Amino acid sequence: MTNRRDFIKIGAAASLAPITTKSVFGQSQEKSEPEDGVFFEPKHKVPVSRETDVIVCGGGPAGFAAAISAARQGARTSLIEMHGCLGGVWTAGLLSNIIDFRDKNGIMKELVDRLEKSDAQYTAKVYDAELMKLTLDQMCLEAGVNIRLHTRVSAAYANSKNRLEYIVTDSFSGREAWKAKVFIDATGNGDLAAQASCKYDVGQPGTGKTQPMSLMAIITGVEEDELVREGLMQARGKSSASCKAKLYKEIKRAGIDASYTKPTMFAIRPGLIAIMANHQYGVSAFNANHVTQATLEARREVNDIIDGLRGLGDIWKNVRIIATGEQIGIREGRRIHGRYMLTKDDLIKGARFDDAVCRVNFCVDVHALDKNSGGGYGSHGIHARPYDVPLRSLIAKDVQGLMMAGRCISGDFFAHASYRVTGNSVQMGEAAGQVAAKAALKNTLPENVSYTV
Ligand SMILES: Cc1cc2nc3c(=O)[nH]c(=O)nc-3n(C[C@H](O)[C@H](O)[C@H](O)COP(=O)(O)OP(=O)(O)OC[C@H]3O[C@@H](n4cnc5c(N)ncnc54)[C@H](O)[C@@H]3O)c2cc1C
Repeated sequence: MTNRRDFIKIGAAASLAPITTKSVFGQSQEKSEPEDGVFFEPKHKVPVSRETDVIVCGGGPAGFAAAISAARQGARTSLIEMHGCLGGVWTAGLLSNIIDFRDKNGIMKELVDRLEKSDAQYTAKVYDAELMKLTLDQMCLEAGVNIRLHTRVSAAYANSKNRLEYIVTDSFSGREAWKAKVFIDATGNGDLAAQASCKYDVGQPGTGKTQPMSLMAIITGVEEDELVREGLMQARGKSSASCKAKLYKEIKRAGIDASYTKPTMFAIRPGLIAIMANHQYGVSAFNANHVTQATLEARREVNDIIDGLRGLGDIWKNVRIIATGEQIGIREGRRIHGRYMLTKDDLIKGARFDDAVCRVNFCVDVHALDKNSGGGYGSHGIHARPYDVPLRSLIAKDVQGLMMAGRCISGDFFAHASYRVTGNSVQMGEAAGQVAAKAALKNTLPENVSYTV
């Protein structure tokens, strides 16, 4: 991973005589010979694609809200997303279910209202991922956000005062630099903050184990009323503990020892069901080989499960997969160090903060960290009361001009297992966008701005 320190190191270490050459994008480059196991990427000029007020990296639930919120404050705002759609786990991940949104106003409520008004939507909670893509596009465009899809943030550079100044992206346009006054890391995994040399934590204290990944699928050929009649699903797209237990037994009856013991189905609309039925354990979100292997195994398992169910006949005789997620669902990445780290104790006491930006109502939800611990999920005995996320948890500690929103904010393992769900990610994004815009427009830092709902 490239960061500012690496860049300086590379520049200093490249004592081999540089050869000037021309890159495929027509930029002048310097080339040097590789060393054993290391290749020193030649220095090259990178065109500055855009200079703007606020750049949001990652267009998931947190990033789309951050970008809309910043743009509505009057800040020139760019939203950079590596997939071909906005929405993150909502869309590329086919999640299909929003948690902890009910008491949220602002952008979360606007989105829910728009989804509810849309054609054949069951409930706002369970949504159609395709319609979600379109709705997010429209909301961002209406707010005046400059959207850039198919573009991955791959490097970050701070100035001599340790203020983040440029990011570098890779896309169909090659390598580009972007300059902004304030940046928001909404990449879920905290990619931008890590590239900017921020410190972070990953996984369970002591073991470093992270929650498993899951690949969502959309299925057809099985009717909701039949699933409800068989106790495999509740009416109107809901699931319950007993439905999950029955579905697990049904998968077992099909001869499959599934990796996830609490499989869930949500009815999206007549004849269309979302299913979460697998766990991939011990996968690092920062290792492309791990994520690739997990994706291949998960796709195999989900297909085996659906083929197995079809083999049972009866209500399952026509069941088919329409699509699996383009992106395997990543529950846990980096938790970037902020100016305040939310902890398990804050959850237990139901903490209140003067600079609160989000009220979390969701429980601690830790999915099994390895195969031998039951394969389901649980709270590890922690009883969380509704608590606040303070603005300080959204402001990076180690570099200036950088905020975080969504699951990569500053918190411990158990706090993350609660605030990470999408209703909270949206509300955090909205706050981050508002503060980033105000800071950019006043030429100050996010920590000097107060947040008002
Ligand atoms: C299997 C699974 C089931 C879940 N179930 C639920 C549920 O039922 N309800 C619920 O509300 N929540 C659920 N969650 C939690 C929730 O989905 C996430 O915690 C939430 O999506 C966090 O939002 P985010 O915007 O921070 O991250 P993400 O949704 O991960 O979005 C991050 C975005 O950044 C983009 N990105 C990443 N890196 C880069 C980069 N370097 N450059 C450019 N773009 C980048 C990604 O493509 C993505 O669009 C679930 C999660 C998983 C994995």
